[in-house]
Amino acid sequence: MKVTVDPDLCEANGLCVAAAPDVFELIDDDVVDILLPEPPPEMESAVAEAVIACPKQALRLLAE
Ligand code: SF4
Repeated sequence: MKVTVDPDLCEANGLCVAAAPDVFELIDDDVVDILLPEPPPEMESAVAEAVIACPKQALRLLAE
């Protein structure tokens, strides 16, 4: 699994950080940072929750 963020859509509201704090982090004010762009299997459910939680549909999952 890979996860990406569209910086044009992200409004840095942090909802994905709340769902998966090991994968996402807010460092600046404009766009979320992805700490683990290829999350391990044990984090996949949290990442999926983060994708659903994003109100801007800024996150994308790519299955491998
Ligand atoms: S939930 Fe969506 S809009 Fe909010 S910080 Fe995460 S990617 Fe950006």
